[in-house]
Amino acid sequence: MRMVDLIRKKRDGLALSDAEIRWMIAAYTAEEIPDYQMAAFTMATLFRGMTERETAVLTGAMMHSGDTVDLSDFGTYSVDKHSTGGVGDKTTLIVAPLVASLGGKLAKMSGRGLGHTGGTVDKLESIPGFRTTLTAEEFRRQVHEIGVAVIGQSGNLTPADKKLYALRDVTATVDSIPLIASSIMSKKLAAGSQSIVLDVKVGSGAFMKNLGDARQLAETMVGIGKACGRKVTAVLSNMDEPLGCCVGNALEVMEAVEILQGGGDAELRELCLALSAEMLALVHGWTVEEAYAQAEEALTSGKALDTMTAWIAAQGGDIRVLTEFERFKQPRFTRDVRVMEDCGYAVKIDAQKIGEAAMALGAGRAKKEDAVDPSAGVRLHKKIGDYIGAGDVLAVLYTDREDALDMAEQRLMTAYTFGNEPAKQQPLVYGVVR
Ligand code: URA
Repeated sequence: MRMVDLIRKKRDGLALSDAEIRWMIAAYTAEEIPDYQMAAFTMATLFRGMTERETAVLTGAMMHSGDTVDLSDFGTYSVDKHSTGGVGDKTTLIVAPLVASLGGKLAKMSGRGLGHTGGTVDKLESIPGFRTTLTAEEFRRQVHEIGVAVIGQSGNLTPADKKLYALRDVTATVDSIPLIASSIMSKKLAAGSQSIVLDVKVGSGAFMKNLGDARQLAETMVGIGKACGRKVTAVLSNMDEPLGCCVGNALEVMEAVEILQGGGDAELRELCLALSAEMLALVHGWTVEEAYAQAEEALTSGKALDTMTAWIAAQGGDIRVLTEFERFKQPRFTRDVRVMEDCGYAVKIDAQKIGEAAMALGAGRAKKEDAVDPSAGVRLHKKIGDYIGAGDVLAVLYTDREDALDMAEQRLMTAYTFGNEPAKQQPLVYGVVR
């Protein structure tokens, strides 16, 4: 086969055969197809799309391009959660111990983030002593005993996606539903869980800016999962403003702990309960209503917090941080972002800009090799619907970089849109694709 013929076929709107897709992915992984040809193919795909069959075959080819994880010793209890990404998304830190406290088994490999904040692994590493590298034996034992373990990516999972996603990132070809769906699902399927709940974000701070595209992405991913014999549900959730109040690694861990302690941001709590309920419904066959009630009970009784404590201790983390937040690394500088005059109601908060402010303060990384500052970030004091009068604090900035404060403050101020009336409340969950 010749890559040029496959590019031409896709350019002309024709569907590739199974054999062509499998050959292309194997040859690209083996470095036999150059990036410039693959870039042409991804651009043609962005414009021409893929059939359901092509998308499923592409997913399978990428899933099998490297190692796959065998979680069969956890039977039907293995369950995973994936978010398509948003600003301030710390749901894994809450949902993982919550679901584990009710019998789910979460053997999670998680990435380090590129962008405004770190990934789940970076967030966990803000807990002093927390180890994100475990031996395979330690990892499995912990999942058996506590129900949850989260480690950094190890082994050679989906090398084809790693190459392809990096290429798409620099060739403006990320925003293609079949390419996003196959990229995410190849990783989730290779990671081995029987049940998967996808949190597909919609809004200004997400990949998917409108509900129609998000629903299409969700349906494509659920379809791929089903075709591979896994149980998959997708929740469509709002990302028009950051989730919760904190954006930054240690800040997000603290906010997650507040939820597990029974307090915290109401919307964050609500989304975590919705996601947990879907996961528990898949794992145990409960109705979603029953699963929701169980999840709520685990949160209010402190059962989920007990699992969080056992989990942190098992991975070497200092559990005193759960009650003494000052044990997290403290930033050298903080700044209150205060408004000097009456602004009215916050009607819009551009999550992307809040993310950029957090990044400037040191919470995220622009390149893989960059280090993140665990203490850096933003705590929002005002969210959509709040009234902002003269002298009010919009947010607090945390950083070790004094010279980044002005730029972050300016970014933050421009993220807010004010109005004379409160904005119409948008739903937190737009729908569920089962
Ligand atoms: N996340 C992924 O893992 N892949 C994509 O293509 C987009 C988001």
